[in-house]
Amino acid sequence: MRPIMKPVSQLFPLLNGKRNIIITMHQKPDGDAMGSSLGLFHFLNKFEHNVSVISPTNWPAFLNWMPGVKKVLDYEREKEKSDKLINEADWIFCLDFNTLSRTKSMEQILSDSSAERILIDHHQLPQSEKFAYGISDVSKSSTAEMVYDFIVSSGHKNFIDLDSAACLYTGVMTDTGSFRFPSTTASVHEMVAELKKLGLNHSEIHENLFDNFPETRFKFIGNVLLNRLEVFYEYNTALITVPQSDLIKFDIRTGDTEGLVNFPLSISGIKLAAIIIDRGEERKCSFRSKGDFDVNTFARKYFNGGGHINAAGGQTKDSLEQARQNFISAMKENSDKLSTYQFN
Ligand code: 5GP
Ligand code: MN
Repeated sequence: MRPIMKPVSQLFPLLNGKRNIIITMHQKPDGDAMGSSLGLFHFLNKFEHNVSVISPTNWPAFLNWMPGVKKVLDYEREKEKSDKLINEADWIFCLDFNTLSRTKSMEQILSDSSAERILIDHHQLPQSEKFAYGISDVSKSSTAEMVYDFIVSSGHKNFIDLDSAACLYTGVMTDTGSFRFPSTTASVHEMVAELKKLGLNHSEIHENLFDNFPETRFKFIGNVLLNRLEVFYEYNTALITVPQSDLIKFDIRTGDTEGLVNFPLSISGIKLAAIIIDRGEERKCSFRSKGDFDVNTFARKYFNGGGHINAAGGQTKDSLEQARQNFISAMKENSDKLSTYQFN
């Protein structure tokens, strides 16, 4: 039988101690991974702990405005320092992922560590045997919302400062598609109302995140939508395949491709949208769906991945063309769920 993770509420009385704490997140962190991690970082710093945030890889430049981001270690660039901190850690908070393999080259040291690992996450099928404490709730909009709940339930809501608020808002806003997805509950809006009462400047955050791209990104998007998009109307599906040469030509950096998969989802009738990007060492896939088409299951079955019902990802070592062919076969295999012929 799988060991049960102890509830995170058991940590509340221990918050007043003095511990070496690591907070880590999934590789190539998004707004929620970085936002929830830094939100928790600012909170834990109100106690006597030594707290460090480590990202397994670099992160998108559009997150560089976030309070505390300059202190985040990039494991690939600062391995020795990070390894030392991990080896000295008492607690390791694992945020916005639930299988250690999502931390890429950090997997081994995290797995070997004698520290207590603590999971806070909203993805399906947690590797619960790896965590001493944890909360895993797929109904939550974002890990940032879960960190907010953790702080409030601990009885220290007054420790949420403006820096923490900005980070938590970033997580919840980006993971709900700016409060659009079905996971946007009344509690999400209530959380944001509380952050606003603290003085949160939400429009500045939207500008920092969404109005801060280089011109080349838009030329790249134009090229992708014109030349790399295929629509399979009879399957209500759209696919974008991006060769590595496009990434080089348009000087595309981490984060510049974020959100691209959502464009074809705005085509009338499209239920499933996918993007496959040739990153050189692997082909990275993102899947988005509308309604009941479950891309978490799809990503797990065909592309070594996972995620949520309407947003998931994966990767493959196959060539870009092979990955494209595999996607098309997988789409056809799922025709009973995709082909409803509702176009007019
Ligand atoms: P994205 O397409 O934005 O990279 O990811 C969408 C969702 O799927 C996110 O919640 C992300 O954490 C998850 N995801 C992305 N790639 C993978 C993967 O390779 N494996 C798993 N298990 N989840 C992934
Ligand atoms: Mn998330």
